[in-house]
Amino acid sequence: MTADTLRERWDAIRGRVEAACHDAGRDPAEVTILPVSKTFGPDVIREAVGLGLHRFGENKVQEIRDKAQALGSQEAAPGIDWVMIGHLQTNKAGVVARLATEVQSLDRPRLAAALDRQLRAEGRAIDVLVQVKTSDEPSKYGLDPEQLLPFLDELACYPTMRVQGLMTLAINTSDPATVRGCFRRLRELRDDAAARGHQLPRLSMGMSGDFPLAIAEGATEVRIGTAIFGSRPYPDSYYWPESGPETN
Ligand SMILES: *Cc1c(COP(=O)(O)O)cnc(C)c1O
Repeated sequence: MTADTLRERWDAIRGRVEAACHDAGRDPAEVTILPVSKTFGPDVIREAVGLGLHRFGENKVQEIRDKAQALGSQEAAPGIDWVMIGHLQTNKAGVVARLATEVQSLDRPRLAAALDRQLRAEGRAIDVLVQVKTSDEPSKYGLDPEQLLPFLDELACYPTMRVQGLMTLAINTSDPATVRGCFRRLRELRDDAAARGHQLPRLSMGMSGDFPLAIAEGATEVRIGTAIFGSRPYPDSYYWPESGPETN
């Protein structure tokens, strides 16, 4: 069976996510799919909207801006929710504050301060997830786990950002046990934070290649690109630059 159309791929991934939930003894209603539309243009997004999708994960600010413009939404979300999941530079926080309904890649105090400033200017409040580093790979962005509790305390002072949970990217390896260890780490960090009074119900983890492991470890949201939209024209190094975290 080949899944050639967007509808077929969407139906197929929903079935696979449901099966992973059953395997993990979890209720499929607990796990949301975030379609990741990076590199795919407005026509594909319109088609996805036609299937009932309305939240889209994007990795680059420029793509959110271009697509929002092409789809006729110069302001936040008339019918489409843009979710920022990629590395965000502080100097682009204004666009995100204007156009995104959610940021899952909040990973440092300076970015939080910049987003807060811009959200105040827009008169908006958005949901955020804190992106945490769960592997030692130098190319992965994310907050160091030891910094999580102080960062959560700091975020509690910003009414413009509602902290809903944590996000991570697993290590890029073919060894399932290592990948699963990253997801387990995120769940344990969430549980530790809960014991310190920070309620973080959402865990965004798992992608096309590894989502069953993430679901087994408690993901409430899996970010799925390729399995829905097909393969992308650029390699992932384009989205996850090897240069290491920027300090701005
Ligand atoms: C591209 C991307 C995804 C989706 O990856 P696929 O392997 O295509 O499912 C998920 N999360 C982030 C942060 C991404 O950049």
